[in-house]
Amino acid sequence: MLKTCSFSGCDGEYCAKGLCMAHYQQTRRGSGLHPVRRRRKVHRHNHCSFANCARPRYGRQKFCKAHYQQVHRGYSFGPVRQYHFRMEVQDASASS
Ligand SMILES: [Zn+2]
Ligand SMILES: [Zn+2]
Repeated sequence: MLKTCSFSGCDGEYCAKGLCMAHYQQTRRGSGLHPVRRRRKVHRHNHCSFANCARPRYGRQKFCKAHYQQVHRGYSFGPVRQYHFRMEVQDASASS
């Protein structure tokens, strides 16, 4: 069983003196223990430009894939929930 950091709220991997690497280094710096900010992989400026849309951008577009499709195909621009592209295939076959 892996030991974890004893600092409250920290689940960092045990390193020394009951602390994780980050907190152990804090004690060595003498700056007192404080929560460690962990880098997140989410890029704030890399999401869809549509209001309240948190989907990642589609390639180099400024919109997510779903909103890009809406623009590209001339659809009405709106919030995306479950966007099923299979429905388009059915529409195409029905139009013949
Ligand atoms: Zn820690
Ligand atoms: Zn979007």
